[in-house]
Amino acid sequence: MSSSKLRGLTLCLALAAVALGTSVHAEDRPPAAVVIVNAQVADGTGAALRKASVRIEGDRIDAVGDFQPAKGDRVIDAAGLVLAPGFIDIHNHSEEGLEKDPLATSQIAQGITTVILGLDGGSPWPVGPWLEQHRRNPASLNLALMVGHATVREQVMGKDYKRTARPAEVTQMAKLVEQAMGEGAIGVSSGVEYEVASYSDTDELVGVAAAAARHGGFYMTHIRDEADKSFAALDEEIAIGERARIPVEHSHIKLGTVKVWGKAPEYIRVIEAARRRGVDFTADCYPYDAWNSTIKVLVPDKQYENPKSVEKALADVGGAGHVTITEFPPNRRYEMHTVEQLAKAAGISPVEMFIRVIREGDAAGEDAGVIGQSMTEADIKAFYQQPWVMVASDGGIGAEHPRGAGTFPRVLGLYVREKKWLTLPEAVRKMTSMPAKRLGWKDRGTIQPGAFADLVLFNPDTVIDRATFAHPETPPAGIEKVFVNGKVVWSDGKPTGARPGRVLPK
Ligand SMILES: [Zn+2]
Repeated sequence: MSSSKLRGLTLCLALAAVALGTSVHAEDRPPAAVVIVNAQVADGTGAALRKASVRIEGDRIDAVGDFQPAKGDRVIDAAGLVLAPGFIDIHNHSEEGLEKDPLATSQIAQGITTVILGLDGGSPWPVGPWLEQHRRNPASLNLALMVGHATVREQVMGKDYKRTARPAEVTQMAKLVEQAMGEGAIGVSSGVEYEVASYSDTDELVGVAAAAARHGGFYMTHIRDEADKSFAALDEEIAIGERARIPVEHSHIKLGTVKVWGKAPEYIRVIEAARRRGVDFTADCYPYDAWNSTIKVLVPDKQYENPKSVEKALADVGGAGHVTITEFPPNRRYEMHTVEQLAKAAGISPVEMFIRVIREGDAAGEDAGVIGQSMTEADIKAFYQQPWVMVASDGGIGAEHPRGAGTFPRVLGLYVREKKWLTLPEAVRKMTSMPAKRLGWKDRGTIQPGAFADLVLFNPDTVIDRATFAHPETPPAGIEKVFVNGKVVWSDGKPTGARPGRVLPK
């Protein structure tokens, strides 16, 4: 080795030592505080926007108000932007998605800082180890878990679930719910419309709800019917809340068929009467009037080639003009046309056309993907304008519905800015302090000194969803920066890679 090379190496080592020394020294000092200045603050309570500085120290908000950053503070100038508490998505299906993408890119991209998982009656099992695994291997955002009623039902009844449960079995389910609550679940969820739970009677649901109530949990439910029998299903849900003495969260409130379209005012009256009787009833709603699935879900009696069943199926969604074929590899020419359009072109009735698509799909072993209308805009508006209805996505990482990537920006852009159904502070309340209150969390969901620094900076003039049924993962516009527990997780249109998320207790 030449002497000059040796000198160079020595110099490098010396510089490395200096660098190392500096960084060790820096770690001795507390990390610099961050101060966000010039933002319009929507504090989550529904109070009017106000210009304020917000100081973040460690994982908490340290100060809110009219003050100057101290020397050494890192300053973020948020002129023209709104600063809100991070959005809490009380109905999210990211359990599997988090395994593949712990950065939860499509979720933090829309300002979500906490997801509630284990919905519609299905949860990981057992709860304790699953939560522990997520404590050890954190995501970019916070999470909390409900225990699923169908999950414990299957634990107790196994494959023999196509019947009502015996009292001893209900007792066993209740024990498992108590076990899960002891291991960190925050409540119990049900999906009474789905196969496993559809065989349960009201007593069984009261039994598992009461078990969660004994541990301070709440009952979150996808009710028995969101279509023609929506009102009977609502009555059952309210009865469960009253008999089990448990707060009720009605998942994705909806009036899903023609027979009940336009009846939101009546539905709301039933709920308000229950609230006056003392039932702690809240609901969440996703901001879309359509669903996507396979063509066969339109026919609940599964008689896909029976003209009577098909006629009812088409009538339920308001006619063949409300069913759009999105994906059909056996016959691409059908794609992006409604069943009504295809029937006209073929010179046959919509019922005949529907059955033709079913048969072609069966022959190829591939059902057509369809978008169907699930609600009327008037009903969605009526629900959103209730003070007890919050925003939730029913989406999650990898969702095939645009709500998975668009929900929160869509409410801010479409319902607040364009349609003016809600004020901005009220919409933010429905995304933050309202779910936090339902969850019993006092130190999240608002911007105040001492609260955890889960925060979103967004541009109120440009924020909007861009996900569509054709491209459901397209990220929204206008979400500038997202903080979780004081750390920036989203900035400049991409995740920072930080994973400061926590598993949250009840
Ligand atoms: Zn559901």
